[in-house]
Amino acid sequence: MKLIVSACLLGEPVRYDGGAKPCPAVCSLAADLEAVRVCPETAAGLPVPRPPAEQREGGVFLSDGTDVTEAFSRGSALSCAEALASGAALAVLKSKSPSCGAGMIYDGTYTGALVPGWGTFAALLRDAGVTVVTELDVVLAQPSAERPWALLVEGGGNQLAELLMDAPIVVIPQVSAQGFEAACAQAHARGCGVWISDAAGCPRASSPFISALMRGLADDGRSASARAEDLSGYSTVALVRKVLRLL
Ligand code: SF4
Repeated sequence: MKLIVSACLLGEPVRYDGGAKPCPAVCSLAADLEAVRVCPETAAGLPVPRPPAEQREGGVFLSDGTDVTEAFSRGSALSCAEALASGAALAVLKSKSPSCGAGMIYDGTYTGALVPGWGTFAALLRDAGVTVVTELDVVLAQPSAERPWALLVEGGGNQLAELLMDAPIVVIPQVSAQGFEAACAQAHARGCGVWISDAAGCPRASSPFISALMRGLADDGRSASARAEDLSGYSTVALVRKVLRLL
C-alpha cells in the first residue's frame, strides 16, 4: 500500500525555518508502507530559510508581506501530480500548514491562531478523491487502554473477541441494523476512540484514516481501477489485524 506523506513529518529539514516536524507515529506507519514523500513548498523552489507563510484574502503571503500565492499554487500542483501518479489513495499531511493543513489552517495573522480551511496542496488532493488526514488523526487513532477501539458486531462476537484479545479493543454487540446507534453511543460512553462495525459482513470504521487504511490494505496488489467500492465480503478481523500491525 502506498501512502502520501508530508516530508517534514518524516524528519526531512524542509520547513521554512530549515527544521522538520518528525512524528513518531507517522514515521512508524510510513516505514511499513510505500511512502510517497512530498513537500509542495520545496517543489516550488522556495528558499530555506524564509519567513513563515500563511493564507489570507484568497492568497498566500510571507510574514514580510511578500505575495507567494503563485509559488504555492505551482508547488502544490507539481506535488499533487507526483502524488496522484503513485496511485496512493491516502495522505497524512502536516496539520495547520498553508500547503498541507487539512480542515484547520493558520489564520493569516502569524499569531498561531487557526481558522477552518485547507492548505493549497491538501485541497488539491482532497478534490482528486484522496483521503487526507493529518498527523493528529494518526496519533488519535492509536488504540490504547485509555482509548480502546470498539468493535460493533451483530450477534455475540465471542469468536472475534478471542481473535483480537491481545489488542485494546472492546467488543460491543449490535443486535441489528437498528441497534447501530445504540452500539455507537455505548462505544462513546466507554471512551472508545474509534469504532469498527462488522454489520452485514461489511467492515466500516468511524475514522476516515482507519477506513482508508482498511481499504488500502484490502486492495493491496490491485490497480486503482480495480479497487473495491466498499469492503463487503472482506474479513473484519483480518483487516483489523493488518491495521493494528501498522499502528
Ligand atoms: S509544505 Fe508541507 S511538507 Fe513541506 S514543510 Fe510545509 S508542511 Fe511540511
